[in-house]
Amino acid sequence: MNLFSYARADDVASALEGRVARPGTAFIAGGTNLLDLIKENVARPEHLIDITRLSLRAIEPTREGGLSIGALVTNSAVAYDATIERRYPLLSKAILAGASPQLRNMATTGGNLLQRTRCHYFYDVGTPCNKREPGTGCPAIEGHNRMHAILGTSDRCIATHPSDMCVALAALEATVVVSRSGSGGAEERRIPVADFHRLPGDTPELDTNLQSGELITAVELPAEGFSQHAAYLKVRDRASYAFALVSVAAALQLRDGVVSAARIALGGVAHKPWRIPEAEQVLVGKPAQAASFAQAAEILLHGAQVHAHNAFKVELVKRAVVRALEDARDQSVKS
Ligand code: SF4
Repeated sequence: MNLFSYARADDVASALEGRVARPGTAFIAGGTNLLDLIKENVARPEHLIDITRLSLRAIEPTREGGLSIGALVTNSAVAYDATIERRYPLLSKAILAGASPQLRNMATTGGNLLQRTRCHYFYDVGTPCNKREPGTGCPAIEGHNRMHAILGTSDRCIATHPSDMCVALAALEATVVVSRSGSGGAEERRIPVADFHRLPGDTPELDTNLQSGELITAVELPAEGFSQHAAYLKVRDRASYAFALVSVAAALQLRDGVVSAARIALGGVAHKPWRIPEAEQVLVGKPAQAASFAQAAEILLHGAQVHAHNAFKVELVKRAVVRALEDARDQSVKS
């Protein structure tokens, strides 16, 4: 582990200034991923700015009828917030499917968006890894790749995005609000969650489109929360504290058993939460039944590429999508 210096920021402006002033600076809040990365020598920040004193802990209504979640609201506080449980149960259930109670008590909304892949080669500094050290290679492609991606991969990286929360945020079409230093002080930028995380392409070292010097301040949920028919299904090797082999965030609006709107996002299969609008459109106007759910799954899997140990994910996605949509149809919320 490298030596680093540490300072606390009292407001967003001073946090941003501190980062701009010192290259090699990282923000730290809950630290549930960053401290692991530092201990494993994967991340080597020279300076840490502790942002836990910033006023970013509110959950409050937006003018558009949605809900704003401050970047420092813990995962537990989001999952158990009464308004979120009532209006956005998909988000609550997805968060509770992830990590452990202790981690959820520390992990923040902003940090969850930025957590890095759990590819075991990425964490092993004794192996090459294009994400950790660009240009060194990707041993997962020919190596052990059971947990790895089948969609949106490149010949540089086949890692998966690890978050459950982000899969629900993708299905709900949330927006990430960020601040950055501008000529007249802090400026705001808004990024749809669909555009926040990246596919690996030629630059797998970049997980997100967050720019250097930007700080996540909030996540905004739109007014529509799919509160009546939503399900988060996570398939994993053990019942708790495990990352998804495949997960599905499914949400429906129904009129007399016919789908009027649908959202489907997948986790555990790509470098970002995976969503294909055509897979949702194919359900609209049809009875909410397994046959059309299976059709949506086929569209979601279009272009899937498997490796030696993860071909099982194709069939797993097909079955998980159908089951999650059936769960969403049959009851208000199920995880
Ligand atoms: Fe590194 Fe990505 Fe390959 Fe894993 S899949 S070894 S993170 S380049």
